[in-house]
Amino acid sequence: MITQNNDILIKNLSRRDSAHIWHPYTQMHQADPAIPIVRGEGAYLYAADGKRYIDAISSWWVNIHGHAHPYIAEKLYAQFRQLEHVIFAGFTHPPAIALAERLLHLLPSLQTKAFFSDNGSTAVEVALKMCVQYWFNRGIPKRKVLALKDAYHGDTFGAMSVSGRSKWTVPFENFMFDVCFIDRPNSQNIHAIMEFISQEQHTLACFIYEPLVQGAAGMLMYETSPLNMLMHHCRALDVLLVQDEVFTGFGRTGKLFAANHLKEQADIMCFSKGLTGGALPLGLTTCTDNIYQAFLSNDNHKTLFHGHSFTANPLACTAALASLDLLLSEHTQRRIQYISRKHSSFAANISNHPKVKAVRYNGTIFALEWETGEETSYFNTYRNQLYHYFLNQGLLLRPLGNVIYILPPYCISDEDLAFIYQTIKHALDDLE
Ligand SMILES: *Cc1c(COP(=O)(O)O)cnc(C)c1O
Repeated sequence: MITQNNDILIKNLSRRDSAHIWHPYTQMHQADPAIPIVRGEGAYLYAADGKRYIDAISSWWVNIHGHAHPYIAEKLYAQFRQLEHVIFAGFTHPPAIALAERLLHLLPSLQTKAFFSDNGSTAVEVALKMCVQYWFNRGIPKRKVLALKDAYHGDTFGAMSVSGRSKWTVPFENFMFDVCFIDRPNSQNIHAIMEFISQEQHTLACFIYEPLVQGAAGMLMYETSPLNMLMHHCRALDVLLVQDEVFTGFGRTGKLFAANHLKEQADIMCFSKGLTGGALPLGLTTCTDNIYQAFLSNDNHKTLFHGHSFTANPLACTAALASLDLLLSEHTQRRIQYISRKHSSFAANISNHPKVKAVRYNGTIFALEWETGEETSYFNTYRNQLYHYFLNQGLLLRPLGNVIYILPPYCISDEDLAFIYQTIKHALDDLE
């Protein structure tokens, strides 16, 4: 009887969903019905039919402390009763001030000002506008952006323009601005790249990059040393550095920020995703005093004319403060180190498996390329088979083509982490 009711409930939710909702990155013509999730707790998601999934990708990389965290919930409830939102021009509020203070204190020392927005893409848009207008305000015609091939910085037009070109971007080709793309730096190509930048230095406004890990491209990783060299070179040539830590921030690479692995410092940094512990959307762009000063003037035209209705929403800022409390706790820091160690032993354990084309990890990020005989790509046809195989085992993994990655909330239990590895191992052994 209960099962029957549940069946009706699920059918209803899925049917009502497909009647009215258009989902992201989804070919709605052939999409399976969306799975209705009615509850979350820690690393678990519970579907309307009672099925439990381990959220092994932190719900698109945002959820670092687990779902429906009681500590974040308590803080949010208290803040909502105090102040849920207020216009952020001409007004301010304690959660935004406290968050800016705490975060800037944790960031590399050059970062001195924080500009709020809504998500990762808007954090990037703000960063790009800061760079372009920085040179405009100073009367210097540097207008081009330097970016990495395969980069991903978001889906709005500016963020898309500085992202790698792919099948995703073809329809918009004529609407994107000019960008110079360079390869991910390594010890072989770094000198050629630096030479190229020297030649272009008078046109380049900024260099935007995902430090050490390019997430959406398939968790592609690169070394600190060539990145340090590249950053140093750009700084010497007055090419502004925009470090997009939307994905790498808040413990993902084993340290608080990817910046903590680097010797060189950026001019501008972008944050979102883990910023609120995944509880609410929030974007943040921080910059150096040098950038900020270029906008100070009696001439009103030098103002940064950018903002969003929900800029610095007090609830989102409160979630971010609560998330920082949890993140900085000794317990969470130990979990991050534990996950990092386990990833590294799992990598060693499976690297010689004939179905493993490549394996890589950095901190809490683990990725393996599945050997399919086809080239590694987002459109690899094996992807759906992998996705459904893991879902059937109660495991939410969302392969990027034939790249399977694990990106767990830091609260994941030892047992669940072991189950993820074991399930992947079984898949490698069993799937033909
Ligand atoms: C996800 C992501 C973005 C875009 O963030 P959204 O909140 O999805 O708009 C930007 N940069 C990087 C590195 C990302 O991983």
